[in-house]
Amino acid sequence: MREAMYWEPLEGNRVRCRLCPLNCIIDEGRRGSCRVRKNIGGKLYTLNYGKVSSIAADPVEKKPLFHFYPGSCAFSIGTVGCNMHCLHCQNWEISQADETFPYLEEATPEAIVRLAKHYECESLAYTYNEPTVWYEFVLETSKLAKGEGLKNILVTNGYINEEPFRELAPYIDAMNIDIKAFRDEFYRKISKVPSLEPSKRTAVIAKKEFGIHVELTYLIIPTLNDSEEEIRAFARWVVEELGGDTPVHFSRFFPYYRL
Ligand code: SF4
Repeated sequence: MREAMYWEPLEGNRVRCRLCPLNCIIDEGRRGSCRVRKNIGGKLYTLNYGKVSSIAADPVEKKPLFHFYPGSCAFSIGTVGCNMHCLHCQNWEISQADETFPYLEEATPEAIVRLAKHYECESLAYTYNEPTVWYEFVLETSKLAKGEGLKNILVTNGYINEEPFRELAPYIDAMNIDIKAFRDEFYRKISKVPSLEPSKRTAVIAKKEFGIHVELTYLIIPTLNDSEEEIRAFARWVVEELGGDTPVHFSRFFPYYRL
């Protein structure tokens, strides 16, 4: 456990987390919506720093990234927690868990980079759960990895505030960003966050300002986000705001979790 980045103290020992657009106001002894940032004595702490739930040397295509060092190995790690609570989450066992999850292993950024090199991976991927809520560990590890000649990949919902994203972006080479639907109503009802705008903004900043290789994933859920109108609006945004060379993965829905 260590003090979190991006928070501010408020009156009455409360704190405001400024890491993601939920900007949770957290009473003493309570956690933010992601479950892994806690107000202890009027300070915000990250509870999942260096705690790894999942680890694998994956093909980069599994992230999915189809146009970033094809055929290479992405050393993939994840922890617990997420700032969204999608009813159809495919990794809900870890995304909706906290630091009491029984299968967490301790790791340091140095150990992760050493393992990635041992398995001859070209990149490190922060994936399986939302890397935003692992921010401090991802930032430190990606800096170290970059210095060792590895690439860094974020597999993310893009739901992060601009300031922390701009601090992390110089170390990130590629991202797969989930666009879960193209209507705020879906984000409110299914993903439990107010809107899609922050994810769109992250994608545009990543690609246009930082030159990060961006691919998008849109999981088609019959009747919930698959109308022709919605898919057309999504496609139009991709072409107009990110460019027609942006790879998009339309993936298939499988029933999971609460859907
Ligand atoms: S990172 Fe967690 S605690 Fe911080 S604003 Fe987002 S959901 Fe809330």
